[in-house]
Amino acid sequence: MSSNRLSSLNDSLVSPAEIVETLGLDPVETASVAARYPFSITRHYFDLIESRNDPVWLQCIPDMQELSDSHQAEDPLNETGLSPVPGLIHRYPDRVVLLVSNVCAVYCRFCMRKRRVGCCSSDSLSPDSFSDAVSYIRANPSIRDVILSGGDPLLLEDEQLEDILSSLRAIPHIEIIRIGTRIPATLPARITPGLTGILRRYHPVYVNTHFNHPKEINPASRKAAALLADAGIPLGNQTVLLKGVNDDPTVMKELLRGLLSMRIKPYYLHQMDLVKGTAHFRTKVRTGLKIMESLRGHVSGLAVPYYVIDLPEGKGKVPLLPGQEIPSDGVLKLRTYTGEIVEYKDI
Ligand SMILES: *Cc1c(COP(=O)(O)O)cnc(C)c1O
Ligand code: SF4
Repeated sequence: MSSNRLSSLNDSLVSPAEIVETLGLDPVETASVAARYPFSITRHYFDLIESRNDPVWLQCIPDMQELSDSHQAEDPLNETGLSPVPGLIHRYPDRVVLLVSNVCAVYCRFCMRKRRVGCCSSDSLSPDSFSDAVSYIRANPSIRDVILSGGDPLLLEDEQLEDILSSLRAIPHIEIIRIGTRIPATLPARITPGLTGILRRYHPVYVNTHFNHPKEINPASRKAAALLADAGIPLGNQTVLLKGVNDDPTVMKELLRGLLSMRIKPYYLHQMDLVKGTAHFRTKVRTGLKIMESLRGHVSGLAVPYYVIDLPEGKGKVPLLPGQEIPSDGVLKLRTYTGEIVEYKDI
């Protein structure tokens, strides 16, 4: 785990200067946002932009609104507090998230890990932290499911990824390994037969992709998904509900149907977390519920994701169902998986 980010990534990035020039951005503003939060865009993703403030633009182009948002917290889900060893989040009894990479191909402006991706001294988890994490998992037989996340795990070199997968597979109580990645949408050329050949050696491996808009579904991302599916990898998807991007029933239906056509089963639709620098993307819970109501019965049941709120302080994800009552003061009472009733203010 010593080498750094995928060597081929650098060749596929668009420079900040080119973006400022091509899109007619204010160079000073763009630089000031990029100085505060990480910035990176792949050629593939950049080329999907068709017009100013379109859904691809909004997701990847730095915006001054990121700097004006002061009331939200950097780590509302308390991921740092739930971390028994660096890089590992242990919130639920039987599963852990292992943050193996600190980099992404495209930095999403709405990212919930804005506080930590793209700004660490190293691009991946250090060898010491990785072996501490493996020791922790080995010592906890209640852990059955390891979710590789980051950053983007698929930005590790093939050999690094293989080291991680083989270390985890060597632990008898690990049943499944999941990989959360946005690479099929942002850098689809990274999904190669060489990579899928590695992944399939460690089955059962599940891949959870992250598509937010139908524009992200195109021949290149279809090919990436097909390679993964043909390697016998069950594919799921998480979508973040984003104002101006996909907070519309027609757009959402097109996205979900498109995913199914790529053999990707929509898994979660996330209400935006209350993360600093992302408030301009937040929609009301009511908007999400309206979208959910528009799906049931109107699209294949397979296309319907769970609409979830990830509760503050790491209390877990709670699904919201159509018909969920929203009190006039905007304070929802939600039941956590442990049965605790938690108040959640829909701001
Ligand atoms: C979302 C999440 C999981 C996985 O939850 P599932 O509902 O099993 O997909 C595990 N740990 C953490 C910290 C999470 O945020
Ligand atoms: S790919 Fe995921 S971790 Fe990376 S910037 Fe986007 S939302 Fe954040």
